[in-house]
Amino acid sequence: MMKIGFIGLGIMGKPMVKNLLKAGHEVLVYDIIAANVEDVVSAGAKGAASIAEVAKECKLIITMLPNGPQVKEVVLEGGVLENAASGTVVFDMSSIAPGVAQEICAACDKKGIKYLDAPVSGGEPKAIDGTLSVMVGGCENTFNQVREVIGAMAASVVHCGEIGAGSTTKLANQIIVALNISAVSEAFMLCQKAGVSPEKVFDAIKGGLAGSTVMNAKVPMILDGNFKPGFKIDLHIKDLANALETGHQVGSPLPFTAAAMEILQNLRAGGCGQNDHSAIAKYYEKLAGDEIRK
Ligand code: NAD
Repeated sequence: MMKIGFIGLGIMGKPMVKNLLKAGHEVLVYDIIAANVEDVVSAGAKGAASIAEVAKECKLIITMLPNGPQVKEVVLEGGVLENAASGTVVFDMSSIAPGVAQEICAACDKKGIKYLDAPVSGGEPKAIDGTLSVMVGGCENTFNQVREVIGAMAASVVHCGEIGAGSTTKLANQIIVALNISAVSEAFMLCQKAGVSPEKVFDAIKGGLAGSTVMNAKVPMILDGNFKPGFKIDLHIKDLANALETGHQVGSPLPFTAAAMEILQNLRAGGCGQNDHSAIAKYYEKLAGDEIRK
């Protein structure tokens, strides 16, 4: 079994490490938050004192960090590039802008380090179950070398194309999720105001064409008024900012994404940045002066 480095032990990173441990791998971990390190060390991981230590000891380093600037900080400036042996694979599973992934890859290439961009979908529940969907960009041979290891965390691992292709695929995913939660919130508030039970509406339509994984995951949370993350509004703002920037770069207008972004901005300004993105429902609750509940 392989010794794997893992940097970034947040909501997603912690259960992902635990699934690598379950598959029998040795995992050397690092995070700036000591409590997050302790959590996975108690499950069997080894804590590293620095990023440099992870880079020196592991031929596969997985990163699960908030955004591009943190991945650049860890990989380019924080010690990975400086300390990793040529041939080391850096498998970045954070959701970042495709242009930043290309920039990091170019810097890694110069040192003989193989960088892939490989964000995930599925959220905390699927990270815990080991059934994430992984979308990968970069060298296909390198991808084939690590595919089996990644399979311990995922139900689906798809190579989407050149470096940046994984990140672009994730942006598409995030646009669809944000607009789906917005549509669900708008439609369920209509039912609430019209005096039709949102719970009955959910039961009636979840198996039809409007049904979705998003609806199944988020409507029960909205009906309970439970907005504990899950996936934070602040992170979704980050993803839509990356989507809008990329859309403008490639000449693909994103009018509904822009509207969803302003809803999220309104929620953040109101103090909900750390809520789950199902709190998009709260925006509609404010507009309509009512709550979508059982
Ligand atoms: P999180 O904020 O819970 O975790 C991020 C972790 O990175 C934290 O533990 C933080 O301390 C650590 N970190 C930040 N800067 C660091 C640095 N310089 N060195 C070492 N560690 C550092 O975020 P998360 O929810 O786990 O998400 C991680 C990534 O996965 C994000 O890109 C997010 O968009 C993506 N993602 C999240 C979900 C979800 O449901 N939470 C789903 C799919 C994808």
